[in-house]
Amino acid sequence: MNVLGIESSCDETGVALVTIDGGAVPALRAHALHSQVAMHQDYGGVVPELASRDHIRRVLPLARQVLHEAQATLADVDVVAFTRGPGLAGALLVGAGVACALAAALGKPTLGVHHLEGHLLSPFLSADAPEFPFVALLVSGGHTQLMRVEGVGDYELLGETIDDAAGEAFDKSAKLLGLGYPGGPALSRLAAFGNPEAFALPRPLLHSGNLDFSFAGLKTAVLTQHRKLEAAGNVCEQSRADLAASTQAAIVEVLVKKSLAALKATGLKRLVVSGGVGANSALREQLNTAAQRRGLRVHYPELALCTDNGAMIALAAAMRLQAGRAEAAHDYAFDVKPRWPLDQIG
Ligand code: ATP
Ligand code: MG
Ligand code: FE
Repeated sequence: MNVLGIESSCDETGVALVTIDGGAVPALRAHALHSQVAMHQDYGGVVPELASRDHIRRVLPLARQVLHEAQATLADVDVVAFTRGPGLAGALLVGAGVACALAAALGKPTLGVHHLEGHLLSPFLSADAPEFPFVALLVSGGHTQLMRVEGVGDYELLGETIDDAAGEAFDKSAKLLGLGYPGGPALSRLAAFGNPEAFALPRPLLHSGNLDFSFAGLKTAVLTQHRKLEAAGNVCEQSRADLAASTQAAIVEVLVKKSLAALKATGLKRLVVSGGVGANSALREQLNTAAQRRGLRVHYPELALCTDNGAMIALAAAMRLQAGRAEAAHDYAFDVKPRWPLDQIG
């Protein structure tokens, strides 16, 4: 079965072709991505209307590119999958509309999937694919959640952020340091030259006794430290790197400790990390070290598939169909779900 996946929930247009046969591991035949980051940079964040318009421009050329690279044609597509939510309503409607129009023209069925399920399952496309059950640490631009995952579609929320997401904490702190948008990767690069112990920043909810997170206070602490540096005339390349490293250390420590606590609470031995922050090398290093010491396994998506992409959408659809958790529909009536909790998808 060949699944064409279309992602358009935010500021990345992604298209991919995934093949899944019987019980075999899913294969990514080709994927293509257009990031709108440069377009939104001047505004310091994503402008929804511009995002929708750009998805319209990009999606069909990307689909053509994917089929070409996979040496396939539209006739080879068995199911057209799209991101149904959560995300920006207008942006989601572009992907859903194009997917359903394309499927209708081909006489093939469609399947709308959950964006976060795409993130969550994306490590199944890596060389070191996980096995169920596992604890998932979902760390993206909009979400920070710990999930107990028994199988495809079987997700129990263990804890989540009560305010900002980890990615948001990276982005907002990066903005304070003048690093542009999205700042996660830039902050992480700057942090490589800094001392993570230079500034004492808060580790919110670290000892809360539950698996929830809170990152909103961190940006205020970063701002306070930055203002102190400014007042003392001490803003320089090294002090900025130190502040970046200290910020990253605070976020990473909380993510690592809560993930370990989730593994302990569930008795599971396997952690699957996904979402954009899963690309962070400090997080990967510290999780790997902690896991090795405790005899645990950690799985990640390929670096290129940590942030939004079409491959994870095609994959999630293929795995849902393979597991009998969903049926692709021929009616071409679609809706989108801008707000849609992952543990409510069934
Ligand atoms: P959601 O999936 O919750 O709707 P999103 O799709 O915007 O949100 P992703 O694409 O998964 O989120 O991830 C983007 C986020 O990941 C951004 O906040 C970005 O700063 C962060 N990020 C990406 N790479 C890194 C990195 N190396 N270190 C830290 N953060 C990173
Ligand atoms: Mg993005
Ligand atoms: Fe995402």
